[in-house]
Amino acid sequence: MPTQGFQDHLRVMTRGVRMLERGLLGRAQPCPLASVRSAVSVASDQTWCMRCGAAIDSLTTMPQRVSVGSGPRCATCRVTPRFDGFVRLGSYRPPLDALVRHAKERSWHAVVWELGWHLGNEVERRFLAPKMGWRIVASPTSMWRRLARGIDHTNVLASAVASRLHSPNIKALRVGRRTRQAGLDRHERLHRARSMHCSQRAAIQLSGHGVLVVDDIRTTGATLIEACSVVREAGAEFIVPAVICVADMTPVSMKRSEVFASECG
Ligand SMILES: [Zn+2]
Repeated sequence: MPTQGFQDHLRVMTRGVRMLERGLLGRAQPCPLASVRSAVSVASDQTWCMRCGAAIDSLTTMPQRVSVGSGPRCATCRVTPRFDGFVRLGSYRPPLDALVRHAKERSWHAVVWELGWHLGNEVERRFLAPKMGWRIVASPTSMWRRLARGIDHTNVLASAVASRLHSPNIKALRVGRRTRQAGLDRHERLHRARSMHCSQRAAIQLSGHGVLVVDDIRTTGATLIEACSVVREAGAEFIVPAVICVADMTPVSMKRSEVFASECG
């Protein structure tokens, strides 16, 4: 029978280890279910364009279960739709932004999985399943980034979406040299030399199917545009990006986006 003194020692040591984890390593994670549920419930009343993910006026109601290619569109996508469809959980703002950032930077595997599961829920809630079923593809991160973080977060997200939708997660996309993107605008990101590619074997599995390209954050959309164009070349019938959150446009980024759109025709 451990004495009271021993139990107190144990309690202090456990608290010390927790503080070390939180402070130095940042690995201690919040309850995945509760943290994701509360962050997503704050974000879930937003309305977004179902072709690019941008927030649109709140008077529009989000539809339940439409086919890919339908649903509300923003002014830009009414003229030139950016993607075949789009799914998101919310805007890149509190509390969802901090949760996503901490989950990937601190390797909160269970939180990332729970976010992916909710994303799968949202896909099922908004879109009718394609005849041939979904194929899930993660937006790729470089090997060094994965090693540094200790988690391949987009792949964990994709695995959770795949598990929720009973669809295969295909590791189709690979990235070669990829430089840090923070601080770059959309134009710079799109023209940064990168080499995203799809293996021949994966292309066979994607051909003729509806593909969900899973990522954590859509900032300018350049990474998703590149991923989607590679998947399209592989023969996918239609492609729907599914992201946790979208950095909705400020007036400055909107101006940049207009410049980008005019330059790309
Ligand atoms: Zn749009």
